[in-house]
Amino acid sequence: MPMQSIFLQDTLRILKRAIEIGGFDKIIYDYLSRPMRVIAVSIPVKVNGSVEIFEGYRVQHNNALGPFKGGIRFHPEVTLEDDMALATLMTLKNSLAGIPYGGSKGAIRVDPKALKTNELEELSRGYVRALYSFIGPDIDIPAPDVGTNPQIMAWMVDEYSKIVGKNVPGVFTAKPAELWGNPVREYATGFGVAIMAREAWKNLFNGDLNGVKVAVHGFGNVGKWVAYWASKMGAKVIAIADISGTVYDPNGIDVEKAMEIVSKTGKVVNYPNGQKLSPEDALYVNADVLMPCAIEDTIRADNVSRVKAKLIVEGANGPTTPEAEEYLTKRGVVIVPDILANAGGVIMSYLEWVENLQWVTWSEEETRSKLEGILTNNFKRVFDEYGKIKREGITMRDAAIVTAISRIEKAMKLRGWI
Ligand code: GLU
Repeated sequence: MPMQSIFLQDTLRILKRAIEIGGFDKIIYDYLSRPMRVIAVSIPVKVNGSVEIFEGYRVQHNNALGPFKGGIRFHPEVTLEDDMALATLMTLKNSLAGIPYGGSKGAIRVDPKALKTNELEELSRGYVRALYSFIGPDIDIPAPDVGTNPQIMAWMVDEYSKIVGKNVPGVFTAKPAELWGNPVREYATGFGVAIMAREAWKNLFNGDLNGVKVAVHGFGNVGKWVAYWASKMGAKVIAIADISGTVYDPNGIDVEKAMEIVSKTGKVVNYPNGQKLSPEDALYVNADVLMPCAIEDTIRADNVSRVKAKLIVEGANGPTTPEAEEYLTKRGVVIVPDILANAGGVIMSYLEWVENLQWVTWSEEETRSKLEGILTNNFKRVFDEYGKIKREGITMRDAAIVTAISRIEKAMKLRGWI
């Protein structure tokens, strides 16, 4: 297949680099540089009275450690190759998190905002009808990603349950709390990113987040909760941004107020105070910590020199390109990589799945403390490995991928795959 996607090329590049750094056999690269299974489907939906066909995918990357696991993205520009890159990151993320999952990712090329609610529901149900025989609580467990949400998971779990003739809560995660979900899942990814910022700051700069200046790029389900939890931990959130623009206030933004305004009006720039700048300006403000929480390829060779933060914590998947990372590393900037930083979402998905398989429910407090325990432990493991392999140019991403691959390699050896 000719490779078009820069995101996939970059993902394979960082994988290869970690395989060399970790001294793994070439066969590991041969396995992990391609998905085990790729499914492409066409989903017909009546839009405004006439049928439109939408293209959907499910990339099942690797299941050496357990059922495939990863979100479903609804985005107008997503390609199969981007989906392959995202599925690869899921395999690494799930391995690193120590949970019993392989990695996958799904996508539909659609702008979900352009559809009416009933059309979006039909599209979501159509995706499940096209894919039901390839998913299941012990086969492949989807969840939300960019452009999808708990309501979509509710439609999907209903459609799947109807097809198989019984209630199967554990086939999708991040469902609404009222339908086999857990209240923590809503903010789990953002909560985890904030915890990673707290742990990284503590280990690198010897302090807590009190008064530390933070900029958050992206104000969707990840970004808004990152800003919320970072400010709860004492940080001063000086910039937030979505596609409407950046709000910059060196005196600190009232995040709860901003969340309220965004949920009412849909735009961060409707926040009354602070300066209004262009969407990407949040990346360049004078913050100590920058959290890119929107989409891949945000910090690139062409804009990286404008980034001022000394710590970057990746809420999005793949927001920093390898060229940009090299430049930042030379400047002494540390990046807490996506597969570590944003794993709170899938770790919470795992906890929800464990509840579902046993038909039990845990309280919000109990769940959150389980999640926090796993997250801080993961940070420590990667930071220790980083300390061990640290030499000129080696990044925390390298340490994270090496740690992730070691676990997959052991499972593949035990299974007799290599
Ligand atoms: N889409 C999220 C991610 O990229 C969550 C996946 C999941 O919960 O399965 O990590």
